[in-house]
Amino acid sequence: MFEQAVEFSEAFRRGASRMQGSLVPALKVCPPCRTVHMIAAPALGTCAACGAEMRVLDPTDV
Ligand SMILES: [Zn+2]
Repeated sequence: MFEQAVEFSEAFRRGASRMQGSLVPALKVCPPCRTVHMIAAPALGTCAACGAEMRVLDPTDV
């Protein structure tokens, strides 16, 4: 009974980490000043600080 509960929490943790991974593309970054923002609109737009084009944050580029 206890072992079943452990298995469940393991599966839940794996599912939660998958959900976190899917949130990563919802961030955009300004390459020149390394500012990261949430993507709140379909268009990425430009950086409010320096005017450079924002791009989608690459998880391997942090
Ligand atoms: Zn900027």
